[in-house]
Amino acid sequence: MHGGHQRIDVEWLALAAGLKPAIRIAATALEASAIAGRFQAMGAAVVTARGPVGVHRHEHTLVYVARDAEAAAAVRAAERPLLATHLPPRDKAYYAGELGRRLGYPRCCVEAFTARVLRGPGKLRAGDRDSVHEDYVAARDAHVARPDWRLNNLLLRQHLRLVTFEPCRYDCALALAFAAEVLRLCQASDAPSAHVLADRLQRPLVLTAAGARAWARLEGGGSPRIVAAEAPRAGDPGARPDPADEALAARLPRLSLTELGDPPPLLLDFST
Ligand SMILES: [Zn+2]
Repeated sequence: MHGGHQRIDVEWLALAAGLKPAIRIAATALEASAIAGRFQAMGAAVVTARGPVGVHRHEHTLVYVARDAEAAAAVRAAERPLLATHLPPRDKAYYAGELGRRLGYPRCCVEAFTARVLRGPGKLRAGDRDSVHEDYVAARDAHVARPDWRLNNLLLRQHLRLVTFEPCRYDCALALAFAAEVLRLCQASDAPSAHVLADRLQRPLVLTAAGARAWARLEGGGSPRIVAAEAPRAGDPGARPDPADEALAARLPRLSLTELGDPPPLLLDFST
């Protein structure tokens, strides 16, 4: 969901500056026409497709945006095989890699993504029977002791992000080079909004295996304690937090992470 309220469209800035060859957005039919209109008004080329996407294979309208019609159509063509009903995992991984490269994602991050496709959606390890939320799998793969806030890709629903792909590690050098450029563009385009964005991306974040997330306030050094938590919300006035995120935020200060689930939630301290 891309609302019309956010003041900076980071993907558009990156596309216009030539940092990114194309943008792909999955939306409802209604949202898609608003998104297409908005990008066309900015002078971009837009093409669309329809098909099942994501782990749950829900029907979406796909909007592909590029600087010219040929580039937009090329990204649509790269995704077309993925919209087919049943692809063997190896083919799915191959085409997902093609799509990722066409969207300009770092090659190491694309490789990490296709490895997860091969493993099976929601699988922490190959052969696992249980599935967890795909964001949790990707965040666990990317987890490092000091995750860099510029790669925080866990607040897409709130329109808070510099990168829209899953970094291979939360300190990936290629992903960071891209994120740093996008940040610079944001600051040049709208410094107050860039400041708000940075503040929100830098908050420590807890992510559960079911995909709920909450901002956490930490106290103490070596093994910090969560003293307060809040459901993330978008910058738009009137934006409602997710009920599952609110429920997590209410429980966080009272329970330890291991009491909150198995596998336990991840604590990503983007504030360091
Ligand atoms: Zn990477």
